[in-house]
Amino acid sequence: MGICDFCGNNYEKTFEVRSGGKTFTFDCLECAAHAIAPECEHCGCLIIGHGVESGGRYFCCEHCERAVRQSAVSDEPVLET
Ligand SMILES: [Zn+2]
Ligand SMILES: [Zn+2]
Repeated sequence: MGICDFCGNNYEKTFEVRSGGKTFTFDCLECAAHAIAPECEHCGCLIIGHGVESGGRYFCCEHCERAVRQSAVSDEPVLET
């Protein structure tokens, strides 16, 4: 029995997640993902898989990481094929 730290739902099957030295209580994985998972700096989606970390920034995939790196190097738009 606990209360979800993200949505406030009082639920009997909550679970705890430790992240960054803090313990959070959630009622479902979706709430845990929204509260803890980093967002991709390129497309903004939640990173609930392994993701890509590059220079302290988080991306959902290598494609997003490359796109941001390339746009930082040149002002040319990244062409999608
Ligand atoms: Zn919740
Ligand atoms: Zn992305």
